[in-house]
Amino acid sequence: MQMFPQAVRCLLNRHEPVRHDAKWDISGHYLSTCASCGTSIKRLRKGVWRRDEAHPH
Ligand SMILES: [Zn+2]
Repeated sequence: MQMFPQAVRCLLNRHEPVRHDAKWDISGHYLSTCASCGTSIKRLRKGVWRRDEAHPH
């Protein structure tokens, strides 16, 4: 996936968080904002962030 620029990865729902803005959610996931497209995202597992459907902007 690293061959793609982040803007393309966002279209594939592979987002990149604003690192200093991640916060722990009671549901057991880290929540943050994508540094590239600005959508609300949550961490599924280490290094894997997906759009957060439960907390849309
Ligand atoms: Zn994104």
